[in-house]
Amino acid sequence: MKDSHRQQGKRQQLVKIVQEKGIEDQKVLKAIGSIPRHLFMDSSFEDHAYQDKAFPIAADQTISQPYTVAFQTELLQIKRGDTVLEIGTGSGYQTAVLCYLGAKVYTVERQRELFKKTERFLPKLGYRPKYATFGDGYLGLPDYAPFDKIIVTAGAPFIPKPLMQQLKVGGRLVIPVGDEVQIMTLLERKSQKEFKKTTFGEFRFVPLLEDKN
Ligand code: SAH
Repeated sequence: MKDSHRQQGKRQQLVKIVQEKGIEDQKVLKAIGSIPRHLFMDSSFEDHAYQDKAFPIAADQTISQPYTVAFQTELLQIKRGDTVLEIGTGSGYQTAVLCYLGAKVYTVERQRELFKKTERFLPKLGYRPKYATFGDGYLGLPDYAPFDKIIVTAGAPFIPKPLMQQLKVGGRLVIPVGDEVQIMTLLERKSQKEFKKTTFGEFRFVPLLEDKN
């Protein structure tokens, strides 16, 4: 697994692009600048890895656009040691960003093929989620709840109740909500019963699906 000077150089250009689009969090920018995104993609797309675009991975899924990864991560306000639930492991790129920032990551993927591939791949790069599993993200991970932060990386038709229940008071849930197009939504849990909702414009994700395979 090679990370050439050329790839490192392109990665720094990507950091600039993401920064110009409005990402300010220096730690998030450092993560984008450090993680070899090309290794998370099929080798036939390797040359495109440092464009600010989503690309196909296995099982008809996509690796999210770097700007989107940075945007969602910035909204989470990750602190070292935070417990973070991620729904939609996919390529593991977002997982790696969270690990890089010192989060204890619990990640769920509903495509068995992707789950297996990513579970094997991440530790090779030195990224070790606390727990990675094959399952249905609509249900969250009640056995490991509550979480400081929750991130959903697929388009959800609505905000699943179990995810709200599994968020700590003071915690943040970032989820793109909608069918064709999604509105990036932040829920902050203010108390046991009270959630503050803020929205951040349109994004496009593959759908959060209900039946696993
Ligand atoms: N974070 C990923 C994004 C992958 S795309 C990355 O950076 O590569 C979204 C992922 O969500 C896909 O892998 C898809 O299989 C997964 N997904 C869809 N519905 C799901 C569900 N109900 N539970 C868990 N994962 C789901």
